[in-house]
Amino acid sequence: MRFEELPTPCYVVDEGLVEKNLQILSGVIKRTGCKIILAQKAFSMYKMYPLVAEYLHGTTASGLFEARLGYEEMGKENHVFAPAYRDDEIDEIAEICDHIIFNSFSQLEKFKDKVLQAGKKVGLRINPECSTQDGHDIYDPCATGSRFGVTREQFRPELLEGVSGLHFHTLCQQNSDDLAKTLEAVEEKFGEWLPQMEWINFGGGHHITREDYNIPLLEECIKKMQEKYGLEVYLEPGEAVALNAGYLITTVLDTMKNGIDIAIVDTSASCHMPDVLEMPYRPPLFNSGEVGEKPFLYRLGGQTCMAGDVIGDYSFDQPLKHGDRLVFGDMAIYSMVKNTTFNGMALPAIAIKHKDGDCQIVREFGYQDFKMRLS
Ligand SMILES: *Cc1c(COP(=O)(O)O)cnc(C)c1O
Repeated sequence: MRFEELPTPCYVVDEGLVEKNLQILSGVIKRTGCKIILAQKAFSMYKMYPLVAEYLHGTTASGLFEARLGYEEMGKENHVFAPAYRDDEIDEIAEICDHIIFNSFSQLEKFKDKVLQAGKKVGLRINPECSTQDGHDIYDPCATGSRFGVTREQFRPELLEGVSGLHFHTLCQQNSDDLAKTLEAVEEKFGEWLPQMEWINFGGGHHITREDYNIPLLEECIKKMQEKYGLEVYLEPGEAVALNAGYLITTVLDTMKNGIDIAIVDTSASCHMPDVLEMPYRPPLFNSGEVGEKPFLYRLGGQTCMAGDVIGDYSFDQPLKHGDRLVFGDMAIYSMVKNTTFNGMALPAIAIKHKDGDCQIVREFGYQDFKMRLS
């Protein structure tokens, strides 16, 4: 079916654009010999995993369910990190994951033997205490009081037996200069123990597929750790894999005025693009402008009853009217993985735009998907 014929609301992931990102990542792999795995937290559209698997080494997960999805649908290297594992899930995790990364020495002590007995690699997350992002405490694992990773002060080298790698994740939508800065802190605080490791994982948050990203500096960082310490280097980006590779299509249901022109659309910031409110950010919208750029200004609001369910203010060449279709950009990542049925909102359908332009709906949701999670 054609893009214009898709039902709304609908997430559409553009196969050609995902592949373009994968080719950029694959260039880094080819030039450095590092390994790159998909952080499923950002993008778990497993229909696309066969394509991802052609370029990347596997998946990483934030816990058992994502790990199982990676195991079932990608079937390549499968890593996992969680702030803590439950006693009743560690056996399955040890069975289906290749690298199991612990967040503390107490978790390490508790579960390390199980993991080693299963023949899997044990990793430890460190906290280099090097904040490189400002203003975004909720996305900064190095913020004061953070629960992520062992600090130098809490580090216990005598318990490192069986640990084959260190993991850090401190970035969010950042460039490689921040990675270089973080690596300096990692070396300064934990460099002493790097020679005894087999691998190091640089985490995610590398915006590698963004136009202004400095790839040569990333590659220098990777090569430095490979050459200086003989380490295998892993990167686990989520966003970068599907950055700018998807859309959310919506239809205008009504327009009204209250000081400003308002349009109600058949989607919701709160339910379908929660990062718009959580991050917060103003999602790109095709054929629209900033406030004041085009003659007709509208505040786009969602269908829920939450006053704050506002996507943003956008200007247009023509007045909006019932039935107009609007297409938001960059909606592949942190969208379908985070949506909810709050207010009884239906979940958007999920579609693929194939390389030849043909669109295919791969999943639709209805009332049962809302009801099933309640009782
Ligand atoms: C969130 C996360 C990632 C992926 O981050 P992106 O910003 O999507 O690249 C990778 N590793 C860990 C441990 C994470 O928490």
